[in-house]
Formats: sequence, C-alpha cells, structure tokens
Amino acid sequence: MSISASQALSPSDDPAAAPSGDSVTDRIVEANARYATAYTEAEAGMDARPAQKVTVVTCMDARLNLPEALGLKVGDLHTLRNAGGVITDDVIRSLTISQRALGTRSVVLIHHSGCGMQTLTEDFRNELADEVGERPNWAVESFKDVDADVRQSMQRVRTSPFLLHTDDVRGFVFDVKTGLLREIDPQD
Ligand SMILES: [Zn+2]
Repeated sequence: MSISASQALSPSDDPAAAPSGDSVTDRIVEANARYATAYTEAEAGMDARPAQKVTVVTCMDARLNLPEALGLKVGDLHTLRNAGGVITDDVIRSLTISQRALGTRSVVLIHHSGCGMQTLTEDFRNELADEVGERPNWAVESFKDVDADVRQSMQRVRTSPFLLHTDDVRGFVFDVKTGLLREIDPQD
C-alpha cells in the first residue's frame, strides 16, 4: 500500500490526517471509551448526593490526588478546585448549592506547600491589564503565608450568610513532599 501525501505530513502540518491518539485530548477520548466498557451498574446508579456529606475545597495543583489522598472514593464528596483553593464568590455559590440542594454538611479546606499562588502578586493582574487593555474583574488572590490564607478561607466560609452549615469547617495544608495533611488552628 502506498502512503498518501496527507499521511506523510506530520499531525501539526495537517490535523485532518491525524484521526486519533496524537494529542492529550485524543488520548483522553480513547481512554474514556475503555473506561466506559468497565463502567458498572453501581456507578451508573450512584446518588448525586455525596455519601459522606462533605465538600472539599482545594487547589487545582496537579500533585493533589483527590479523593484518594483523603481515603475517600467517587460518590463520597464534592470537590471544588481553583488556583490556590481560595474562597471566591463562585466557590461560595457551589458550596451553597452543595449544602442546600445536595445535602452536604462538612467543609474541608486544603491548601498545600509549594503553591504557585505564593509566587504571584497582584502585579500579575496589573501586567495582564497592561497587556490586553482590559482589567479582569477577579482578584488574583495570591498569598505569601499559606497558614494565614487557610485561616482567612475558614473565616470566609464560616461567615457566609448563604450556607446552612458552618459549624464543621476545618482547614489544612497538604505537604507535597510527604503527602501528609497539617491542620491549621483557626485561632492562631
Ligand atoms: Zn496550589
């Protein structure tokens, strides 16, 4: 069989010649097809309400393996992730829905060592505005002291008027070198 001109091109030259398996998203789609063949009736029939009635708010950091790092499994929890694991208005929105519509009661806040947010400042926002000619309507929410930011996050959750349950709110720092959580005292 001869090789056509389009097949001889690299995928970046001619994306139409690359049917699958050439980008991370292609590999995700292929992996999902395999995953779905093993999808069980138990998984398909799982309740949308988290079994352990807990919502975890944490950073999007690629090294945090949730829910396994917490001894939880799919179906047990809601997971809200963003850059830094900070309590933004949108996190409060999701927490409110989690508690009022889907029955969660406990909140676990997890920041981590070596967070990229500790290397940024609000200058990031100013430089971005200079570059694109428009100021974002969100704060960067960078921080220097991870313990202090966990305390501030706990305070934001505990004082939100929208939440039903603010009595069981605990904050931690995950050590990316050891895999251990260190609890933060809200009073320190
Ligand atoms: Zn982080």
